[in-house]
Amino acid sequence: MKKPSLPTQIAIGMVLGVILGAIVGESIVVIKPLGDLFLRLIRMVVVPLVFASLLVGTATVGDPKKLGRIGGRTLAYYLCTTAIAISLGLLIANVVQPGAGMDPTVQQQLLADFGDGADASVDRMRTRPSVSDALLDIVPENPMSSLANANMLQIIFFALMFGVALTFVAKEAHKTAVLSFFEGVSDAMIQLVHIVMLIAPIGVFALMAAAVGQFGLDVLRVLLLYAACVVVGLLIHMTLVYTTAVKLIAGMSPARFFAGIRPAQIVAFSTSSSGATLPVTMDRARTKLGVPEQVSSFVLPLGATINMDGTALYQGVAAVFIAQVYGIEIGLGGQLTIVLMATLASIGTAAVPGVGIITLAMVLEQIGLPLEGIALILGVDRILDMIRTVTNVTGDASAAVIVAAAEGQLDSEPVESEAA
Ligand code: ASP
Repeated sequence: MKKPSLPTQIAIGMVLGVILGAIVGESIVVIKPLGDLFLRLIRMVVVPLVFASLLVGTATVGDPKKLGRIGGRTLAYYLCTTAIAISLGLLIANVVQPGAGMDPTVQQQLLADFGDGADASVDRMRTRPSVSDALLDIVPENPMSSLANANMLQIIFFALMFGVALTFVAKEAHKTAVLSFFEGVSDAMIQLVHIVMLIAPIGVFALMAAAVGQFGLDVLRVLLLYAACVVVGLLIHMTLVYTTAVKLIAGMSPARFFAGIRPAQIVAFSTSSSGATLPVTMDRARTKLGVPEQVSSFVLPLGATINMDGTALYQGVAAVFIAQVYGIEIGLGGQLTIVLMATLASIGTAAVPGVGIITLAMVLEQIGLPLEGIALILGVDRILDMIRTVTNVTGDASAAVIVAAAEGQLDSEPVESEAA
């Protein structure tokens, strides 16, 4: 019998993990180290890969005008899709009204159960720096410490500046030496991803089994309508918005797009971290979607850090849900504030598990909604985090396809990857 392809093996690992977690329950967490091993191996690649590939991507674009154009297109696409995502979330939450008429005893129960967790989220949000400090913080004082601490925004900033500066270095021999060094690093890191992906089926299996065993399928039973609104919104956004965009702008069939990106989606689902998924997203975009390195190495690290459509959509639904539960009328002005704040909050959300709910506090505070509302939704956050991360990653990949097509660089017959 033919061995199933890697994406199929990963999917099988995920399903088996869910089944085993549901049957065995909490004690299945003993196998979690296998999942953590996979996660650590992937994370190990992130910093050198992002730094080297972004530097090479920027330096090889060369022409500052072209770089500006690619950057402009990328940011425009990211902002548009994020605004659409929040609007979609608001529309669904206003039509379905998941928070209207919540049983007060259920509300009290949820507040009692999850109040402490919500307090922790609010505290973390309150200690965040001001907007000007946050912007200043993008510029590293010491790039080496940014690399050591995996501060992604600082790494991106330094890599971009380094890449631009390299294009102006007068001595061709120096330029070539630095460039080919980092090209070598980037290629080796991609190879490393291929190797690490060989254990992805086991890693995904262990992560899923542990998550289901620990949190139980019960998390889904509570707050079903709210969770359903978020999930439906995310699915509509992925199937309608990204599909239309890749079809209309890049002429790529949705089937090819989703088949190409599927392993990254599964890794995103099981890790809840678009940052940890980045190496897989970059690999799939290059080898399966026909996005040239020059574009993927620029668009994807940036997207993983600042483009979070899934998080933004979820924050829209969550804010309206909390307002409905507390019977607070937020009106059109409030809804517009949500669009603005959720866009900013999603940009500021780190690409790691569970941060979306922390930056949600920023959105709630701005519209004057009770922050303890976070306690109401904390119980279902784990599963929603998984699905919004899939959306975040899919959005980044669609941007890479579209920017490559707009640059006339999309390869309709991409090179095959061994990891497929
Ligand atoms: N886990 C999400 C991500 O990494 C961020 C979030 O919404 O919490 O993309």
